[in-house]
Amino acid sequence: MRGSLLVDNIGELVTNSPGGDGPLGIRRDAALLVEDGEVAWIGPARDAPAADRRIDAEGGAVLPGFVDSHAHLVFAGDRAAEFAARMAGEPYTGGGIRTTVGATRAASDDELRATVRRLRGEAMRQGTTTIEIKSGYGLTVADEARSLRIAAEFTEDTTFLGAHVVPGEYADRPDDYVGMVCGPMLAAAAPYARWIDVFCERGAFDVDHARAILACGQAVGLGVRVHANQLGPGPGVQLGVELGAASVDHCTHLTDADVDALASTGTTWVSGFEPTTVATLLPGAEFSTRSPYPDARRLLDAGATVALATDCNPGSSYTSSMPFCIALAVREMRMTPAEAVWAATAGGAAALRRTDVGRLARGARADLMILDAPSHLHLAYRPGVPLIRQVLHNGVPQCRQ
Ligand SMILES: [Zn+2]
Repeated sequence: MRGSLLVDNIGELVTNSPGGDGPLGIRRDAALLVEDGEVAWIGPARDAPAADRRIDAEGGAVLPGFVDSHAHLVFAGDRAAEFAARMAGEPYTGGGIRTTVGATRAASDDELRATVRRLRGEAMRQGTTTIEIKSGYGLTVADEARSLRIAAEFTEDTTFLGAHVVPGEYADRPDDYVGMVCGPMLAAAAPYARWIDVFCERGAFDVDHARAILACGQAVGLGVRVHANQLGPGPGVQLGVELGAASVDHCTHLTDADVDALASTGTTWVSGFEPTTVATLLPGAEFSTRSPYPDARRLLDAGATVALATDCNPGSSYTSSMPFCIALAVREMRMTPAEAVWAATAGGAAALRRTDVGRLARGARADLMILDAPSHLHLAYRPGVPLIRQVLHNGVPQCRQ
């Protein structure tokens, strides 16, 4: 959108940048100017420059848009019955992924695209302005490539997850499947992917297979992410650190050595950007599988960088709501509200190695939300309440709620 836009009458401006108070870089009595899709100026409201248009925040808090660094949006069908069975006492094993694979293979491109569009819109209305989207429900060369082609219509952060599970037709020859993932499937997927990911877990891919697959992806220029230590302790976190992964995701079952390994990659807390291996926590998955939550406090106290994401998928976490994840993180994972908001914005950006999102400072993308509340605290304090009044994406106002 051309022209300048001033956002003023802001109750509290969360910048995640130096120059404000505390780890969130909070500024009061501030205004923010948008030009050409970027933040052009932040300063005291009394010094605000003239602008072509104005948005009155009406005393509401303004935050950077959420960065949801872990979502599986390209799929067909749902698994509500499996959820109901689980709530009636059946354990979660990850085996239901194959149900979604069957439905996804049978769906048309337009059906898959419509689902991504619907969920992307749902997330945007809840403040998410950057979202990562994975493949992983096709698991053939053609279906993985088309999943990523469709994902790339909606985001820059697309992730090749051909190694989600071994599909049924390869159940008795996983080595052959891994060879296919590293060969023709990667070749077909890589043009549409920025990242490669592996589900490194008992029942999915062991550490040798995971290492081989991630190395093949790195060799063609993809960045590394890992699904690790969700269902039990395992080698996934250490593998991710070893390979310089941008993020290891889930981190529900960690040894002290895992925590130390993550902390050794450094902290991206207030100041700026460092290429750490982020621990991305996905509490929607624990909620939806009625499992113990990861201990965020332990990671934060050790000095690791923590992100929050939705893991939006039809089996184990069918939510697109970052505010819901923030509320869970505060209530169940011993994060402070400030830590949770940081993890859902700047933490997600770190997990995607992005410096243009997750913060509000001159030159950052003008991705922000205006709350119907005076402070970021209300995101956890008022769980389940639609507090996000307006979202700007690339400086463009999205539909109001
Ligand atoms: Zn996932």
